[in-house]
Amino acid sequence: MVNGEDRLRITEIFLSLQGEADAVGWPTVFVRLTGCPLRCNYCDTEYAFTGGETLTLKEIIEKVSELGVSHVCVTGGEPLSQKSVHPLMKSLCDLDYQVSLETSGALDITQVDPRVSIVMDLKTPSSGEVDKNLYGNIEHLKAGDQLKLVIADQSDYDWSKQTIAEYGAATKATVLFSPAFGQLEPQKLAQWIIDDRLNVRFQLQLHKILWGDEKGK
Ligand code: SF4
Repeated sequence: MVNGEDRLRITEIFLSLQGEADAVGWPTVFVRLTGCPLRCNYCDTEYAFTGGETLTLKEIIEKVSELGVSHVCVTGGEPLSQKSVHPLMKSLCDLDYQVSLETSGALDITQVDPRVSIVMDLKTPSSGEVDKNLYGNIEHLKAGDQLKLVIADQSDYDWSKQTIAEYGAATKATVLFSPAFGQLEPQKLAQWIIDDRLNVRFQLQLHKILWGDEKGK
C-alpha cells in the first residue's frame, strides 16, 4: 500500500531505452531522484545534484504508469540518499514492474527490496571518489545483481582486477567493466579483458552510442 505521506525529490521521470546492464535495450521508465553525496570526475548527471520537485509516491507511480512500459529504473543522483526510495521500490514491485536500482555503492544496500535488481558501482580511482566505496555492500549482492566499474585507464583496470579478486565479487554478482566514455578506447579495455581471460562482462553504454548523451542513463 502506498503511504500518501511519503515524498521524494525528483529531477525527472522519462521514457527511454535502458542503456546498461542486463536489461539493456528494454524500453524503460527512468525515475531520477535528486541529490548525490559524491562528486565523480566523470559525472554526467550533475543537473540532478540540486533542484527537482517534490512528489508523493502516488504521484510518481501515476507518472510511471502513464508511460506504459513494464521496466522501471530508479536512478539519480544517488537514489538511496532519500529513505522514501524504499517504499517506492516496494510499491513498484508490488505492482509487478521489473524494477532496477542504479546506486553509487557508497550507501548501504541491505534495505533494498529483494525483488529489485541492483546495479551497483564500485568507484575506480579515476572517479576521484574511490574512498567512498562501501565494500561491505559486495557481500549483500545477490544472483541477478550487477557490480559496475567504469574504467578510464590502465591503472583503473589494474585496480579493478585486483579489487574484484580480493572481494570475490564475481561469485556474488555479474561484474561489468565499462570504458569511461571519451576517456578510454573501448577496444583497449576489450583486449585487456580477453588477454587476462577475466571473468567479467564488457559493456558499452547503449544510450551514449545512440545519442551521445545520458538519455538512457
Ligand atoms: S555517484 Fe553518479 S550521480 Fe553521483 S557524482 Fe558519481 S556519477 Fe554523478
